[in-house]
Amino acid sequence: MAIMVTRSSMPEFDEYIEEIRSIWDNHWLTNMGPKHKEFQAVLKDYLGVEKLDLFTNGHMAIELTLQAMNLQGEVITTPFTFASTTHAIVRNGLEPVFCDIDPYNYTMDVEKLESLITDKTCAILPVHVYGNVCNIEEIDRIAEKYNLKVIYDAAHTFGETYKGKGIGTYGDASCFSFHATKVFNSIEGGAVSFKSERLGKVLYNLKNFGIHGPEEVSAVGANAKMNEFCAAMGLCNLRHLDEEIEKRRRVVERYTERLEKTAGIQLNSVQPDVKPNYAYFPAVFEEKEFGSTRNEVYSKLAENDIIARKYFYPLTNTFSAFNGKYDVFKTPAALHVAKRVLTLPLYADLPLEDVDRICDVILSCKK
Ligand SMILES: *Cc1c(COP(=O)(O)O)cnc(C)c1O
Repeated sequence: MAIMVTRSSMPEFDEYIEEIRSIWDNHWLTNMGPKHKEFQAVLKDYLGVEKLDLFTNGHMAIELTLQAMNLQGEVITTPFTFASTTHAIVRNGLEPVFCDIDPYNYTMDVEKLESLITDKTCAILPVHVYGNVCNIEEIDRIAEKYNLKVIYDAAHTFGETYKGKGIGTYGDASCFSFHATKVFNSIEGGAVSFKSERLGKVLYNLKNFGIHGPEEVSAVGANAKMNEFCAAMGLCNLRHLDEEIEKRRRVVERYTERLEKTAGIQLNSVQPDVKPNYAYFPAVFEEKEFGSTRNEVYSKLAENDIIARKYFYPLTNTFSAFNGKYDVFKTPAALHVAKRVLTLPLYADLPLEDVDRICDVILSCKK
């Protein structure tokens, strides 16, 4: 059987059935029912944040957070991310300005950040890529100096802490994704943790049509609510998350042991002060030292029924949707990594024998 890049975590069938039994009693399927309330409370606790709201998915969490801040002008972000981050900016009528990435941890290169700020800049939207935490102190310092909002795309950092505090406590807001493919899933789902009570009210309006009572609609909003079945899945999966992360750790350590001594493969390392979640295992293949290109490794793995992903390739600033509007040569480190990176299969139940087989195929490409 093929080894896929990921495999969604699911609770035991009976555990989920038990969790959704009460939905058959109360017929409350969506609109902030008991499961939504419970999931929201449990998540605040798990993430160590004071204020958090749930959304139908991670993308709407980002898009509506930008909208709730009522921003205008330019948002500094990076192109080394999932389509969602850039689309959320553009769909709000804002202009993305692409900052290059650090070539080792793939997050925003803060050395290049300040020079991109203009009098139109209103916010910074950095991404904690692969679970690697951005340079929070420097981003904070610059944001404060220029009075900019900071919204973290925290889709990859569920459950992580930085300097002992939940990752969602940093910036003005942090947006999480609970999509099926993420470390933690609620089938589809997302959340925003935020600092300002006022922002929370605007976000709530945006996710529920601005409805505040049977006869009271006080804002113009959309619909981005999480339903009860997704909240129930989240409740079940959260119970097993620590154990799943521990199993992921073993997979990551095996990959690291097998691949770290090979010239031409750059691996990801756990950062100081970070409690990691082992969300992804990116490997960057430098063809000059390794002897084979990323695409050759990708094809060799595919021949062996092993499905890795070129994640993130292409860069968002090269999407055909943007018709060549952005100059990709302004983000050379991102371009370099995007051409050479593969994320290798990684999920809690990936057997270590399979990790060994994957590593054998990769090492057979070494010349
Ligand atoms: C998954 C993801 C999103 C979007 O989340 P969805 O829940 O799929 O809408 C946004 N940003 C990044 C970096 C992601 O990986």
